[in-house]
Amino acid sequence: MALRNILTEGDPTLNKTSRPVVKFDNRLHVLLDDMAETLNTSNGVGLAAPQVGVLRRVVLVVETNVPEGEEEFIIELINPEIISAEGEQRGSEGCLSVPDQFGIVTRPEKVTVRAQDRYGNWFEREGEGLTARCFCHEIDHLNGILFTSLAERMLTEEEIQSGEF
Ligand code: ZN
Repeated sequence: MALRNILTEGDPTLNKTSRPVVKFDNRLHVLLDDMAETLNTSNGVGLAAPQVGVLRRVVLVVETNVPEGEEEFIIELINPEIISAEGEQRGSEGCLSVPDQFGIVTRPEKVTVRAQDRYGNWFEREGEGLTARCFCHEIDHLNGILFTSLAERMLTEEEIQSGEF
């Protein structure tokens, strides 16, 4: 496994639309493993392939809603789509490609995604709270959308420091 360089806002790759994955081969598995290592090292909760310069519909989301005592784990989603959404949550959001900045973004409270795993098998998965936010955020990356363009406003330095906004 190898760490990949994370592109930051201003790099035109982040505004491009990613293409579907058609080959579920070793190259994809290397990309997924590298992305997982990169995500774990950077303490993020999600990472999309375009953030590491690969314009393919591949995202990783950390499932943080786990029972006490159990470890959080990474969900690999290839060619993901949100097939249903309900409720609403309004809160702060950040991105590894927009370091040290946070903004207020409204997202669904709960979503169901349909995606393929690394072998091409389709599955569905529900996400709630932060996980739902993360599914939406990462899938936006595949369509060239950064949260900064969706935020009703960005947080000030003081708000980030104090945690009050
Ligand atoms: Zn992001």
